[in-house]
Amino acid sequence: MKDQVRVRFAPSPTGPLHVGGLRTALFNYLFTKQHGGAFILRIEDTDQKRYVAGAEDYIIKALDWCHIPADESPTNPGAYGPYRQSERQDIYTAWAHKLVQQGSAYYAFDSNVELEALRKERETNGQTFVYNFNNRATLTNGLNMSEASVQQRINSGDAYVIRFKAPHNRLLKLQDQIRGTVSIDCNTLDDKILYKSDGMPTYHLANVIDDHLMKITHVIRGEEWLPSLALHVLLYEAFGWNPPEFAHLPLILKPSGNGKLSKRDGDKLGFPVFPIDWEGEIPVKGFKGAGYLPEALINFLGLLGWNPGTEQELFSLTEMTKAFSLSSVNKGGARFDIEKLNWFNQQYLAKMAPSQLAPILKKSFPFLNNFPESQLNKVVALTQDRLVFIDDFWSASGYFFKAPNSFDEKALKRIARAETSSLIDRIIAVLSTYDETASTTLQEYIKNWISSNNIGFGAVMQPLRLALVGDLKGPDVFDIITILGRKEACQRMAFLQSKL
Ligand code: GLU
Repeated sequence: MKDQVRVRFAPSPTGPLHVGGLRTALFNYLFTKQHGGAFILRIEDTDQKRYVAGAEDYIIKALDWCHIPADESPTNPGAYGPYRQSERQDIYTAWAHKLVQQGSAYYAFDSNVELEALRKERETNGQTFVYNFNNRATLTNGLNMSEASVQQRINSGDAYVIRFKAPHNRLLKLQDQIRGTVSIDCNTLDDKILYKSDGMPTYHLANVIDDHLMKITHVIRGEEWLPSLALHVLLYEAFGWNPPEFAHLPLILKPSGNGKLSKRDGDKLGFPVFPIDWEGEIPVKGFKGAGYLPEALINFLGLLGWNPGTEQELFSLTEMTKAFSLSSVNKGGARFDIEKLNWFNQQYLAKMAPSQLAPILKKSFPFLNNFPESQLNKVVALTQDRLVFIDDFWSASGYFFKAPNSFDEKALKRIARAETSSLIDRIIAVLSTYDETASTTLQEYIKNWISSNNIGFGAVMQPLRLALVGDLKGPDVFDIITILGRKEACQRMAFLQSKL
């Protein structure tokens, strides 16, 4: 029987989750759900200096808002916990020492001052210092000391790190689900630190141990981790473990296509780069606070790097889960086109059931709570395709709640003719005489009246629209009258007349 698919999203809690991280989480989610697998959230918080309080909570809330919650997480643990690396220290310590015992890694006592001096010296010669097969025999480490002196230094409390002994003269052929075979010459690797002098593992060690112990079958992560793949595969080999499959996702690029979209780009480019609002020391607005729907964001992010191979652009999470495949993820970077995201948002707002959209609108516009539910749903149905953001609701529908109190000069000029005022009297009269129990609709009734009196459709519709909406655009005039009522429509006509 094949192992159950298990993937993990493994962010470091260093601040609000960037949209790039969210895309990684989404691709993990899509892949695992398609295979009936589990989605694990592991918090990689071994770097205490970069730890930011509130970040873990933010990550969990952001995934929830996007409807892609983890099946196992620090707050909802499964059988492979703890799910915070800071709580797994003993596990890493034991495995790190095992690597030393078997000769795959070694203790190194070189002080920062010594290493810095070596770096400087190399730099002045135009070279870079690399701790590796070339010089490890000349440095202060366990490879060049007796076991007894190593023990003695450790026992006396000397600071040490554990370094991986990278192989010499070996060509590695690594497999990536998106990039195919990646060849790495091990002579280009350095002897990476696995275990730090503060007793904490580095990312590489903790990540590999956890992926193994948490039975992760597929590691799907950002392209920036591709350079670490060789070390990770070598670590699996050293531990005698089968490595998982790897897939490195393409970068997300700035809208210009030049360079990676960074956390700071939100401020610079004027759009959010975080899913939900961040309430840290310096609060930052997220997509949620800026009026985006999670469905739109997720749909947009899904197509950042993944190509469904068809013309289809609108995907629900379920549809995307069915259609997704790692083999149709591109290698090249994906441009973050905010205009495209706005288009998705407009599409999703237009598609939503009015009764579903109304409660969201009420949050931004509390006065709507005093408006009859069925009326509100009608207004929403009529105007929702004009919204790009939730906040556009007022500019698109305000006239349903507040009669226009002034008119644009240009619009007034467009409708003003010698007979406009008397025509308004006639429109008011005909609107008032309509019999609501009749079999003809109001629209048919007015249209018949227009044609039997030879007035001209535009000559009636334009002043009518201007009076009702305060503008020469908007949805169908008869739909508007149905919602406002004929009495209100007549009052608005009279007001327009007073302004001619
Ligand atoms: N903690 C790493 C990060 O912050 C995880 C990388 C990985 O998925 O291996 O992105």
